Amino acid sequence: MPQEVLEQAAREMLDWPDASGKRCGMGVMEMSHRGKEFMAICAHAEATLRTLLAVPQHFKILFMQGGGLAENAIVPLNLSALRATAGQQGQTDFVLTGSWSQKSHQEAAKYSSTHVAASGQTDGFVDIPVTSTWNVRAGASYVHICSNETIHGVEYHTLPDLKGLGSDAALVVDFSSQVASRPVEWSRVGLAFGGAQKNLGPAGLTLVVVREDLLGHALAICPSAFNYHTVAANGSMYNTPPTYAIYMAGLVFDWLQRQGGIAAIEAQNTAKAQLLYRAIDGSSLYYNRVSHVCRSRMNVPFFLRNESLNDAFLLGAASAGLLQLKGHKSVGGMRASLYNAMPLAGVQALVDYMQAFERTHG
Ligand code: PMP
Repeated sequence: MPQEVLEQAAREMLDWPDASGKRCGMGVMEMSHRGKEFMAICAHAEATLRTLLAVPQHFKILFMQGGGLAENAIVPLNLSALRATAGQQGQTDFVLTGSWSQKSHQEAAKYSSTHVAASGQTDGFVDIPVTSTWNVRAGASYVHICSNETIHGVEYHTLPDLKGLGSDAALVVDFSSQVASRPVEWSRVGLAFGGAQKNLGPAGLTLVVVREDLLGHALAICPSAFNYHTVAANGSMYNTPPTYAIYMAGLVFDWLQRQGGIAAIEAQNTAKAQLLYRAIDGSSLYYNRVSHVCRSRMNVPFFLRNESLNDAFLLGAASAGLLQLKGHKSVGGMRASLYNAMPLAGVQALVDYMQAFERTHG
């Protein structure tokens, strides 16, 4: 979270001021979600996000709950029947580029007939299979990708063009750990979803951006609160939305606008990632195995050639104020997450520490 946003939320916690600065006598957590104050907060957050991400008018912005993992079920519950023939299970295709797309694939099998269109697993998830090699089924309702694999550090730097592949399937994108770090090519997207807790705000809010023509095809077993059509028809207020998380996300969207919008934040993210990858590639102690064309700007996994130094590396980092650098348990090593709120100075501090550590232990 950007420091400025946390400070603003702290100032407003007990008594929220409206846009004119007039205090309303209660904090956001105490408001009815149908009251005029919260309705204004929610409408502002949605409008700012639409501007920031240049979301076209024919896409709905939904504020939901359940996080990325719930969406792994909610997406097939809503979209798998899009192109299904009567009496047949809908077909859903997946491109596997790491743990998160694998999880999506497994969950969708409960509700649809799944198929792996391409996979980077044999190489250990260090590359994204070239789009022209994808084997997308003719009857697939959608193709699911994870645009940034948070654990493996593999990122799509352009979204695939399914039309160019001759497919009418909708593209579904899990952009949990990429959203708001760079522009989105909406003309290629059917639906994008993401938990808020990386770049948007606190956990509890899930963002869904969905093309209007994909609504209205939910399976009969789809829970009403997870039916995109119902959620959209009720302006994300079918059930009580995660009000405080929406308010905080709105403050983050305002902050992003003040930084110069997505183009400016993307330039910063590129600079941050370059600084760290250069330090890794230029060292003889650290390495990253991901192919250069799909290295993530958000999550940089790296390993020490001498793994017995891992504990010493983490201990020294913590005493230098550099926290949460341990890699995900499934891959080991280290991982630096460079989300929007991480300043360039934070990455420079990490690089300085890594170089000092290499000088003493290398
Ligand atoms: N997808 C991606 C790309 C993620 O990084 C995560 C969480 N790290 C998830 C899905 C799961 O999200 P949640 O914990 O919000 O269910």
